[in-house]
Amino acid sequence: MRGGAEAFLTEPVPGAPIDRNALDEALRHANFPSLVPVLYQLTGDRRWLEEPFRPSRSRGMENNDNGGFSEEVRHELRTATLHAVLAWSAGRPPAVPAPVGDPLTVLMTLATGEPVPAEYAEMAAKDMAFAPAQPVRRVDGGNFHVVIIGAGVSGILAAIRLGEAGISHVVLEKNAEVGGTWLENGYPGAGVDTPSHLYSYSFAPRQWSTHFGKRDEVLGYLRDVADSHDLRSRIRFGTEVARADYDADRQRWTVTTTTGERIEAHAVISAVGQLNRPKIPNLPGINTFQGSLFHSAHWPAELDVTGKRVAIIGTGASAMQIVPAIAGRAARTTIFQRSPQWVAPNDVYFSSIVEAQQLLLEQVPFYRRWYRTRLAWVMNDRVHPALQIDPEWEHPERSVCAQNDGQRRVFTRYFEAELAGRDDLLAKALPDYPPFGKRMLLDNGWFGALRRNDVELVTEAVAEITPTGVRGADGTEVDADVVVLCTGFEASKLLHPMDVRGRSGRSLRETWGEDDADAHLGITVTDFPNLFLTLGPGTVLGHGGSFITIAECQVGYIVDALTTMVERGIGAVECRPEVYEEYARRLDAAHARMIWSHPGMRNWYRNTAGRVVCALPWRIVDYWAMTRAVDWSQFLLEPDYSGTTATASTSTS
Ligand code: NAP
Repeated sequence: MRGGAEAFLTEPVPGAPIDRNALDEALRHANFPSLVPVLYQLTGDRRWLEEPFRPSRSRGMENNDNGGFSEEVRHELRTATLHAVLAWSAGRPPAVPAPVGDPLTVLMTLATGEPVPAEYAEMAAKDMAFAPAQPVRRVDGGNFHVVIIGAGVSGILAAIRLGEAGISHVVLEKNAEVGGTWLENGYPGAGVDTPSHLYSYSFAPRQWSTHFGKRDEVLGYLRDVADSHDLRSRIRFGTEVARADYDADRQRWTVTTTTGERIEAHAVISAVGQLNRPKIPNLPGINTFQGSLFHSAHWPAELDVTGKRVAIIGTGASAMQIVPAIAGRAARTTIFQRSPQWVAPNDVYFSSIVEAQQLLLEQVPFYRRWYRTRLAWVMNDRVHPALQIDPEWEHPERSVCAQNDGQRRVFTRYFEAELAGRDDLLAKALPDYPPFGKRMLLDNGWFGALRRNDVELVTEAVAEITPTGVRGADGTEVDADVVVLCTGFEASKLLHPMDVRGRSGRSLRETWGEDDADAHLGITVTDFPNLFLTLGPGTVLGHGGSFITIAECQVGYIVDALTTMVERGIGAVECRPEVYEEYARRLDAAHARMIWSHPGMRNWYRNTAGRVVCALPWRIVDYWAMTRAVDWSQFLLEPDYSGTTATASTSTS
């Protein structure tokens, strides 16, 4: 893995040295669906848009590297690309340097092997830099000051954009380093299950070493992004926010840290995420355990499980990564499963991005952009229609529509193949609720681990933690040296445990209730002027895709709002109550049609009353369109009573 600024991928430039033989060899390892549009862009020859050069559609999440082409066709594509790249490098300009609109839709349809609706073209054109990205306007911010809470994925992005806009800000981060969830979750096997090239900021592509980034590399990436934008001087580490209070007369927020320090700001951006407060189950005896007991997000760095008996409670995404990583090293691994999980195959989950691929990403013009765009299509909205409840569907107990039933068949076959000869395990592991009802998991070696003799899957409920292990509801006790609570996070208690009070003095907790948050677009809340949320209510991607895409939508919207405040001398922006309420109604109506409302399973998108508060019901393209610019008719505005140069101050009580 490379570190530092050289870890970022830069656009290939004509004239840079290209080793013809190395390129020729690398092209054998190309992702051909990504290569065909490149060839067309370089040459402008329309024959590359026609059969036999049209790639097949990817099944599921497969990489579809050979595009369904015969060796002969691949040979022709390779040879043509080699010549086209060499000619381009020698000075021939690309025939189609920046396709947008319908021509881009045509190329996206080509690369994905299926019709891509025209509405995706504009979003893709910006992501691929074929059209200029939404500009960040540079303003003279005077003393207009913003507090960003959190230096994870969203906080880093917000600081970068505010820096570009010329707006003064400070990032308050409770930890000693950037990275948020990627800093905190250092358990064995931790990694992202969105492909690395998609789980990257659009403006900071990286030469990733694996198709799915492991935690250290993702954390390294976030550090590199922070360093390359010189963010550290604007981040106050070890500074945890306890409360924030809005003073309507002064149009200021006062942010109070856990040490009592007070920081004033015109606006506050919450970038605390939804998955950073561990959910500790209220299990009898939990404090009596004599071994090592901790939540998955607090895995002790020095812990070596070699030869130890480990009990895992929970079977979500965290457990799915921990178990394969420790099985075999631990003397015995016992998994306590409350509900089974759907698990999907992915053929490149543990694979490196081979050197040949790296070379193509570095040297072939447009290739990286097409590689990412094809991934985005496969991983993002493509699955969304299959998650809509069909009221006429005959088998609502097992799936929500015919398409979802098809997914069920595919995944069931995968379970059956992986657990062939182990009907005992199949009976325990195969869910009865619809696939995607809980967050879909990727096979991290889960089935391989379950098949081991030293791994046991227990479906008895956990009745008690004893001093020496875990007791199941049937009375059986499993001895353990280590108990890992893979029990998830307080996702629906947004901004928990901060006490945030708005114009009326009411807190967010009072406004929302304990776990029933709402925000217009997931970003603004009536009665809380100048407070902006990232990864707020209703914006987690349950249907798939990269959260970073959502963070870019949200931060773009927020920075648009803040720069406009400065430009127009606006002192307070507050979401109109009717807009806030109408959005919540629309969100609920959309969720009522979506799979996460299905009664057959628990999931962390829903609150204790069963309302979906965490997940985004819309397609990403819809959310992108909703957030691309602030609609000022949706806000109550106040002029800046004091002028934007009012001094921001810091004091300690
Ligand atoms: P999670 O998905 O919420 O899973 C929690 C697990 O603990 C579930 O199996 C749950 O059972 C079980 N559980 C909770 N309370 C329990 C209790 N009292 N007794 C027994 N079992 C109990 O949590 P997570 O695995 O930490 O994942 C949370 C989210 O973080 C993921 O959905 C994902 O968004 C993110 N994440 C992503 C990755 C990745 O990208 N690979 C890795 C880790 C986390 P029920 O199912 O019955 O509720």
